[in-house]
Amino acid sequence: MVRIVPKYTSFDKILRKSPGGILFEFAKDDKIVVTMGLPYANGPAHTGHLRTYIPGDAYTRYLKRFGYDVVFVCGSDTHGAPIEMSARQAGVSPRKLAEKYHEHYSRIFKELRIDVDLFGSTEEPYHHEHAQEIIRILEGNGYIEARTVKLPYCPTCETFLADRFLRGNCPFCGELARGDECDQGCQRYLDADQLKDPRCVTCGSAAEKRETRHHFLKLPMFNDFLLEFNEQLRGTTLARNYALGWIRQGLKDWCISRNLHWGIPYPDDEELSLYVWAENYAGYISFLQEWARQKEVDWKEYWGPDGKIVNFIGADIVYHHAVFWPAMLKGANYDLPWGIVASGMVKVEGHIFSKSRGFVTWVEEDYIQNGIDLDALRYYVLSYTGHIKDLDFTWKGFQIKVNNELVGILGNFAYRTLLFNYKNFGEIQSGLVSESVQKEITQAIEDIREAVSSFKFKEAVDRVMQLAAFGNTIFQQCEPWKSIKEDPERCQSDLYQCLHLLKAIAILVEPAMPTVAEKIWKQLGQSGDIHKTSVKDSTVPLAPITKLPKPKLIFNKIPDEKIEKMTQILNERVQRALNQS
Ligand SMILES: [Zn+2]
Ligand SMILES: [Zn+2]
Repeated sequence: MVRIVPKYTSFDKILRKSPGGILFEFAKDDKIVVTMGLPYANGPAHTGHLRTYIPGDAYTRYLKRFGYDVVFVCGSDTHGAPIEMSARQAGVSPRKLAEKYHEHYSRIFKELRIDVDLFGSTEEPYHHEHAQEIIRILEGNGYIEARTVKLPYCPTCETFLADRFLRGNCPFCGELARGDECDQGCQRYLDADQLKDPRCVTCGSAAEKRETRHHFLKLPMFNDFLLEFNEQLRGTTLARNYALGWIRQGLKDWCISRNLHWGIPYPDDEELSLYVWAENYAGYISFLQEWARQKEVDWKEYWGPDGKIVNFIGADIVYHHAVFWPAMLKGANYDLPWGIVASGMVKVEGHIFSKSRGFVTWVEEDYIQNGIDLDALRYYVLSYTGHIKDLDFTWKGFQIKVNNELVGILGNFAYRTLLFNYKNFGEIQSGLVSESVQKEITQAIEDIREAVSSFKFKEAVDRVMQLAAFGNTIFQQCEPWKSIKEDPERCQSDLYQCLHLLKAIAILVEPAMPTVAEKIWKQLGQSGDIHKTSVKDSTVPLAPITKLPKPKLIFNKIPDEKIEKMTQILNERVQRALNQS
């Protein structure tokens, strides 16, 4: 037998706790809602989406494996100026464009095994009604004020210019900026009337100021509440610290209506639409309500005083989720998020993620259409680095992780164990699990629980890989290729330890790589749905199985040619972007 030495060397670091890590454990009977920032139905899924959605899914699966009652919802964010503008450019209706990308994200979620309990859309009537209801309650509670304001207006197009329909220069840094954000300069959020030399994006006319009526949420009324809310907020420190900085600078009234045709009509003022950032996250509740309606359960058990709400988001929308959204919830008498888990930034081949500069990988075009193992991609995202650090996607790095870790450690342990057993015994006989193997599994479960509870997904996934490395070590030490001749009974007993360990690995790796878990499960001849197992099942001794399928490789090595081809695709994309700019 060829001895394969894992090249992975960081295992000994895994169990060392990083300083300042905070453990947030749920109570046994807590009802939990996990939500993820809604994908904007204006373009296809890319590396940036993976950064939030894969950990969000793995987290939820781990909670479920640990026996918690969790509902996991997401859906498409379908309104707002960018969609109206893209639709106009494409010559289709905004609804058509939003539907196209809603279907895209529904499909991508399935392909990536992001197993939400409901994937809704903010264009659903139930969401329109719910979003309007929140605004009505806020108005009833005195948190919204209608005011006459002077806003940019295009005399040629005869329309008010919301957000992206307006361009001008940033008053802070002077760069070309959008009506809502200094997107090319200092990244500040802007009010449209702050822009210097504002112009209509559609026709280029100079914008003039005209009077119009708008609705404002009185954010300063929430100042003290928001400070307190963010100070006790769980999740990643990234979210909390960023939001506290903003709040301490002082909050201003926030305009929650827009002069847009495409959107949710503002309640009782239908000339205006609700600003997309005043309604999209209400989808978290709308989708939960819809799920609860279908399941005939009470949504308030989850989103209520006894529920725990965890929002997974990208770092770019912390402000919305830690300031606007909790203020709206508080003002409308809803319960508040328990935690916000904001992910770190994304790089592609060492460069800051940028669609316009070509430093992007597309989920469908690059990964799916080129037959990339999507479970391996999930593994890369989870195990590359800690959740709040920068994730750099590089094709070479992906190849190394797949070939050295997935093929070299996990795939190797699974295949050699299954194959040796299949060839020599053809079945799994009943056996006794050794104390040391059982202890190793129990310790791994506790370490994974702690890692997941402190949002350290890399540590959790590395810990499973450490179990596989342990498996390789015991397989090697037992030398079954010798004992099969000298002492078949011992050989069978040793192999039983490896098979039992492999079953535990299948269960513990399921949240990270659900398809891989299914493959191992099947090859071990296990019946039942692995996605419904509990971590406790991983210590239950493997039952005898008389009929085993012929083992197959769990992972395949990625050849250099593949990586060269994928790198070339990316290089060409960057070059095209350069030529266009
Ligand atoms: Zn600026
Ligand atoms: Zn115009």
